[in-house]
Amino acid sequence: MGKSETVTTPAAIATLDDCHPSHKVLFEPIQIGPVTAPNRFYQVPHASGMTEANPRVRAAFRETKAEGGWGVVSTGAVSIHPSSDDSPLPFARLWNEADIASHALTTEAIHRHGSLAAVELWHGGAAVMNRTSRLPPLSPSGISWAATHVGFMGQLRPKKMTESDIDAVLHWQRLAARRALDAGFDILYVYAGMGYLGYEFLLPEYNHRQDGYGGKLENRVRFVREMLEVTREEAGNRAAVALRISLEELRAKPSEHYESEAHGVVSLLADVPDLWDVKMDSSPTDCGASRFRPEGAHEPIIDFVKRTTDRPVVGVGRFTSPDTMVSQIRRGVLDLIGGARASIADPFLPTKIREGRSDDIRECIGCNICIASWHDGVPVRCTQNATAGEEWRRGWHPERFTRTSQPASLLIVGGGPAGLEAAVVAARQGLDVTIAEQTGDWGGRVLSESRLPGMATWRRVRDYRVWVLSQMGNVAMFTNSELDVQAALDFGSDHIAIATGARWTRRRYSALELPAEPLITPQVYTPEDVYTHQVAGDRLLVFDFDNYYLGGVIAEHLAEQGHQVTYATPAGHASAWTFMTNELPFVYRALAARNVAIHTSTNLMDFDGQRAMLQNLFNAVPTELDVDGIVIVGHREPRDELYQTLSAALPDNEPPSLHLLGDALAPGAIVHAVHSGHGYARSLVEEESGYLRDEPIILAEPQRVFPS
Ligand code: ADP
Ligand code: SF4
Repeated sequence: MGKSETVTTPAAIATLDDCHPSHKVLFEPIQIGPVTAPNRFYQVPHASGMTEANPRVRAAFRETKAEGGWGVVSTGAVSIHPSSDDSPLPFARLWNEADIASHALTTEAIHRHGSLAAVELWHGGAAVMNRTSRLPPLSPSGISWAATHVGFMGQLRPKKMTESDIDAVLHWQRLAARRALDAGFDILYVYAGMGYLGYEFLLPEYNHRQDGYGGKLENRVRFVREMLEVTREEAGNRAAVALRISLEELRAKPSEHYESEAHGVVSLLADVPDLWDVKMDSSPTDCGASRFRPEGAHEPIIDFVKRTTDRPVVGVGRFTSPDTMVSQIRRGVLDLIGGARASIADPFLPTKIREGRSDDIRECIGCNICIASWHDGVPVRCTQNATAGEEWRRGWHPERFTRTSQPASLLIVGGGPAGLEAAVVAARQGLDVTIAEQTGDWGGRVLSESRLPGMATWRRVRDYRVWVLSQMGNVAMFTNSELDVQAALDFGSDHIAIATGARWTRRRYSALELPAEPLITPQVYTPEDVYTHQVAGDRLLVFDFDNYYLGGVIAEHLAEQGHQVTYATPAGHASAWTFMTNELPFVYRALAARNVAIHTSTNLMDFDGQRAMLQNLFNAVPTELDVDGIVIVGHREPRDELYQTLSAALPDNEPPSLHLLGDALAPGAIVHAVHSGHGYARSLVEEESGYLRDEPIILAEPQRVFPS
């Protein structure tokens, strides 16, 4: 047993012999000020949930993208000063010399593969609450950023910056730029997007100043211009200076001299940065979920930038298709293809295109579990790529697998996300894999759910894995094969994995958050009844205490089918957890468009087949609702009967080994099932168990970070 060789060709010197001719343009080097990106693949700054607390996890996460061919690899937001403190959300820092070493780990890792390292220097302005530093948030005019109220709710309003506050921020940017150079970064950012400080100066809603930084557009761009200038003074010829800017709101604003204020800002600053990194204004539109926003959704907002500046332009759009990328370049929309989610789901996307293996791209499904990880305050997780965030601590590589030294066979029962992922990983490790699925097609819950409104892209979880398995010679795949104990044993495999999923129940919700007794009225349905078209009745209630996407999607679906649908949930919002995945505002729009009435903070007490008894969760005020049926999207139970019977039938500590995976082990989201299947298959061959715990790099005695 030994790890296979690491063979990596730096992006700059890799050949294009196998690349599709029309995709070769993606591999042209691009000059960015004094530095040169080896190709047009640019991993734009994105949150990773990785901070100075886990520098090795962070370096390995970013390194994998450089290894996979991304010509530029960026950090997430790096705070320049304690007055930009986003806690409890995770953020990185360059507050003093002590922070340099952990970033140097990342830049060295990126440089090993010939890629450029970019740092997103960031001041959050009024969009942060400084909960740890307890400094007053800074803002041009003392106006809170709107999303701060509705989103992460804080009570502290920002102070209005004096001119000496402005000078101070410019000085902090200068110091942070200096530290960034010491850490080895090649591209230094100024951030004027997403409600952060530079953005607040640009927008008249947040900037009411009457001095040289407020009023007409020329004044409102001044702060951003000066931030760029101090960064340039520090960077000299050692690094490029990039401007990251949100253009959605500005583009909607008419301007006296320009086509819009966005056109004005880009014209006024056209040749000040070396690179324009252009984006939308809020996370739900910038990092839009595939349910509601297609690939390339940014183009109508940012398409003018390249015509307005001769500096290179990078932008995103959840691009996964090389043809779409090439079209962005050929049509003069972008110079560099920005990827955040595309690079998380498949760090090797550029390499696969270069090697003419586009079919092998593990395409992002746009579920936004990655951004939910940041909202959760933890390192990134990805539905499609179970290795994201696990590169260092578990040694998981997205494309390399330890080959087994001894022939071994594995039977997997269940062809949902957990079973399929386990099959892919085990087959790549050289095991002989058999996978059996009781239904006529692969994908389990993903297949059913992907047929619901807006969910088609999620099918990629199934399609990618089925495609990989179909290419491998050591995999036998059987559909229409429900296995019982005897059938499972008859395969005579060394290992058996049970990935039989979970079933939705008719259990109710109790205020103690424990599922109470099921409702047994015949007109009470589960999501499985929706998939198999069992749901009858004109007027339907969807009662959701799963609180993620499915209850809302099923309400949409039933309304589209012509039912009159009411949605009720004990939570404070419809599909409440989709706040974490940037979907919440669009869920409301979708339900409104289909006339779905919404009751929140509402429990379902009883149903007699004609009338549902609802009750406000807090004040117990009752409501009666005449409905013909109820779909409960609430509690799931593992479908583990086969496992239990096999477990009882098999002798202890003798082959075959027996394991439960995915929802059959612990019902969760698809990301959990994929991770479970992946980890199980790795454990069959790799000796290490558990994971390494990262530690901060401590080089100095604790220092003061904001001496007055
Ligand atoms: P997970 O998310 O954990 O992969 P899913 O519910 O998506 O779980 O998938 C489980 C799959 O297992 C389903 O496609 C289901 O049809 C299949 N399955 C359940 N029981 C059996 C069985 N006894 N034999 C074969 N397949 C089964
Ligand atoms: Fe894409 Fe979902 Fe992975 Fe994020 S978590 S990169 S949205 S597949």
